[in-house]
Amino acid sequence: MKKKSTNVKRKSFVLTYATMFDPPEELHTRFERRLARVKREMGQEHTMLIGGVEVRSRTKFEDRSPINTDWRLGTFQQGDASHAAHALIAARKASASWSRTPWRQRVRLLRKAARQIDQRIYEIAAVLSLEVGKNRMEALADIAETAALIRYACDQMEANDGFHVQMGVDPLKGYRSRNVSILRPYGVWVVISPFNFPAALTGGPVGAALVAGNTVVMKPATDSPWTVRLLAECLRDAGLPEGVVNYVTGPGRTLGKELVNNPEVDGITFTGSYEVGMRIYRTITQGPYPRPTILEMGGKNPSIVSRHANLDRAAAGIVRSAFGLQGQKCSANSRVYIERPVYKKLVAMLVDQVEKIKVGDPTDRAVFMGPVINQGAYEQFKQFTKELSRAGTILTGGNVLTEDGYGKGFFCQPTLVADVPLNHRLWKHEMFLPITMVHPVGNLKQAMQLANDSSYGLTAGFYGTQEETAWFFDEIEAGVTYANRPQGSTTGAWPGFQPFGGWKGSGSSGKNAGGHHYLQLYMHEQIQALIR
Ligand code: NAP
Repeated sequence: MKKKSTNVKRKSFVLTYATMFDPPEELHTRFERRLARVKREMGQEHTMLIGGVEVRSRTKFEDRSPINTDWRLGTFQQGDASHAAHALIAARKASASWSRTPWRQRVRLLRKAARQIDQRIYEIAAVLSLEVGKNRMEALADIAETAALIRYACDQMEANDGFHVQMGVDPLKGYRSRNVSILRPYGVWVVISPFNFPAALTGGPVGAALVAGNTVVMKPATDSPWTVRLLAECLRDAGLPEGVVNYVTGPGRTLGKELVNNPEVDGITFTGSYEVGMRIYRTITQGPYPRPTILEMGGKNPSIVSRHANLDRAAAGIVRSAFGLQGQKCSANSRVYIERPVYKKLVAMLVDQVEKIKVGDPTDRAVFMGPVINQGAYEQFKQFTKELSRAGTILTGGNVLTEDGYGKGFFCQPTLVADVPLNHRLWKHEMFLPITMVHPVGNLKQAMQLANDSSYGLTAGFYGTQEETAWFFDEIEAGVTYANRPQGSTTGAWPGFQPFGGWKGSGSSGKNAGGHHYLQLYMHEQIQALIR
């Protein structure tokens, strides 16, 4: 496979989800230096950015670290519906000029923004690690991917020459005709992002919307405002005109709701849970006409292991995908169906590897699993493990960690569960926690039936022979599929390599972010037929 590289402070090294196992020592030194500085700077107040102006609201909220809730990362503005409306007006005002800015100029500015992100990668990754509990390598990868997604949108604009296409000349006697197809921006675009990939899942859609010529209002999750604030600064510092990008913070149920209901909105990208996404989808249809609504929602991602599989690869891939980011990836491997002849052996290997996972402060180089995001997730972990211990067998894990350095954060053990009846509700519910369920199957057909028996269709993984993998790719109902991958059974995405998106209840557009059909979603077509 071609190598993917990110250019960080002129020293280039390979850094992706699939290739971050052996980074240069220099990367760790830089991260640690920057982390120390970020820790010294925590606790400041941050404003919203609307129309190029720093805006404060009357009410504030505190952003605290899930690693240690005594760590107050910052104070943020608790914006309300009026701030959402204000930001949309600023975006509308900027739209007339930005949409007519030549696309090459837009690409130039967005490439500058990507460079700003590269330059601040250690700082933003340190903040992200403290704010979300993501381990250092995954935090760095999230930021690197953000810049890569923005560049990918620029590349696509260039490769398609701004999406201006000469069409056929009508055979009209006595006239000369010219027909052109142009993709043009919609206008004002809203980006609402989740806590778990606050950089890539804000910056990716924002980058695409901007390159396409839309102006943007972006709203981060209440659990990750700081990371997104830094991203907003990178876009501002790249020289984007005032009002082209606006950053607002506040609760989804008030400020977020207004960003969906307000008639100034021409298009929206929402990444988050199925419940909120579907509510947005239904709300948008109540408007006077259809508006593009890109929804990237949850997953209940299965992997299937054949009796012929390489079990070392399967065990490594499943453990990484089940417990990376504490199981809080939309692509987390939450269900594993294993052919009976290899069930016992693979389960023993999985238990062994899960018990070796180091849980702790995710900024620490040796730690793979940090805390879950907040008190709510922590309480849910306790409830789900209690329910599962009654329904089946907890093979390993099942408890929260409260002793030693864990007491002030939301730390949970990686948990593997077996013997849960196949009709149990948690086979279908996205728990979004470090809990994975395993089950033996009589044959691959049964495994496929179970894998597809879900209203989600985000990612899926398989381990088996070449012939079996062809069958798997053909039968599985999911937008991103992986076979025989030790780097992750159901996780791993990178623009231009594994574009990311879901089928069924996992996504609305049917086109994957970071892929060659994505940027076009942010523009509508106009045919210009001229008789000269
Ligand atoms: P969430 O609770 O659905 O929130 C996502 C965003 O929506 C947040 O910014 C939230 O703001 C906002 N929001 C909440 N209610 C709203 C409303 N009524 N109107 C407008 N906005 C509203 O999701 P999350 O817990 O942050 O993220 C986890 C979910 O995201 C999981 O289901 C995961 O699978 C999914 N996800 C999907 C993908 C993908 O690519 N398919 C990627 C990552 C995550 P507040 O935080 O202020 O409530």
